[in-house]
Amino acid sequence: MSAGDGATAGLRAIVDRAECFGFGYCAEALPAVFHLDAEGKSVATDVEVDRALLLRAADDCPRAAISLLPTAGRMPDAPSGEPTA
Ligand code: SF4
Repeated sequence: MSAGDGATAGLRAIVDRAECFGFGYCAEALPAVFHLDAEGKSVATDVEVDRALLLRAADDCPRAAISLLPTAGRMPDAPSGEPTA
């Protein structure tokens, strides 16, 4: 996982570092997930938090720098290979 990415509540938070201006609203709203690094850019970490809070943090970013994508862990189970009929 690269800096700026994080997964939580079935969603992966991706911070577009080019768009992030380091206002810090996300880190204030959800410090368990977001923090500002040495360059003053937001970084998302992998912790489970309330999904609604994560959606709100992304929506409140004034630069729309936070994208939320489904995590790979929510893919359906692979077929077992056993015949069903
Ligand atoms: S709210 Fe948006 S612009 Fe501000 S630090 Fe967070 S990601 Fe960056």
